[in-house]
Amino acid sequence: MEHDKLYDLAVVGCGPAGLSAAINAAIRRKDLIILGSEFCSPKLHKAPRIDNYLGLPGVGGEELRQAALKHVAQFGLRVEPARVEAIIPLGDRFQLLTRTSLYEAKAAVLATGVVEVATLPGEEDFLGRGVSYCATCDGPLFGGQPVAVVSDIVEGEEEANYLADVAAEVYYLPLYKRSYKLNAKVTVLPARPRAIHGLTGVEGLELTDGTVLSVKGVFIIREATNPNRLVPGLDLNGTAIRVDREQRTNIPGLFAAGDCTGRPFQLAKAVGEGQVAALSAVRYLDQKK
Ligand SMILES: Cc1cc2nc3c(=O)[nH]c(=O)nc-3n(C[C@H](O)[C@H](O)[C@H](O)COP(=O)(O)OP(=O)(O)OC[C@H]3O[C@@H](n4cnc5c(N)ncnc54)[C@H](O)[C@@H]3O)c2cc1C
Repeated sequence: MEHDKLYDLAVVGCGPAGLSAAINAAIRRKDLIILGSEFCSPKLHKAPRIDNYLGLPGVGGEELRQAALKHVAQFGLRVEPARVEAIIPLGDRFQLLTRTSLYEAKAAVLATGVVEVATLPGEEDFLGRGVSYCATCDGPLFGGQPVAVVSDIVEGEEEANYLADVAAEVYYLPLYKRSYKLNAKVTVLPARPRAIHGLTGVEGLELTDGTVLSVKGVFIIREATNPNRLVPGLDLNGTAIRVDREQRTNIPGLFAAGDCTGRPFQLAKAVGEGQVAALSAVRYLDQKK
């Protein structure tokens, strides 16, 4: 669905960095949208006890998470539970694509956290030749063929359900535990992947028990998205997004904050960078007027 609204700012990610950017942009009266995961943020939730956040010694991650969401709601903001699959810079605006919608904003803050999982053997080699991170983008290439979806997060279920309409067979490998909302055509495999095999393209997904699933496509859905797969042409420093002291990336109008800009992976840095990114985005928007 295309939204005909042009927002001032899109914040991508709803962890401490994204939510900090959002409240600061809201204070400066910018019209913004937060596009985030269904659960904001799993990392903060997992932090059992935080001792280095100024003024709140020993605070629990979950307590802080709930306080942050309440704070955001007090500004009349809400998180749109939509996983951004691609961001296209168009010069005067950005298009942000999710599986079902297209959003537009004049500026954007990336606050997508960090990918810490090791990539699967074969993942890089077969990228674009059977390995994909986006069912909406690449699903149609696998019409009538068997595919596997390996997902760290519940959002992977939507990808698998969509693929079930296109592919001959869909195997779903959830790397999380809960009940699944999956189309009857999707086969759930409680197994872990070991490697992706093939010659010129993907031919199989090997599981840790040694079984090889015969598939032509492997869709990998992770908690955090690798930033250069999200935005073409984004400058990186290793795996981190390269930013300056104003949290500007190499793409005008695109800012980044939090773990996605590199170490230390810490809460106070994420919140501080979110604020700087928002204020820089506000300055950018005001200069464009
Ligand atoms: C067990 C544990 C203990 C910790 N303890 C401490 C501590 O004591 N002190 C401390 O300072 N820090 C601690 N941390 C680190 C702290 O939680 C992180 O530094 C902080 O959460 C980073 O915030 P962030 O907003 O950059 O990223 P995250 O919190 O990871 O949030 C990123 C959000 O963006 C979403 N997202 C990713 N890609 C997309 C996309 N394409 N579209 C939409 N949304 C997307 C993710 O789902 C996630 O909700 C701990 C972390 C863990 C796991």
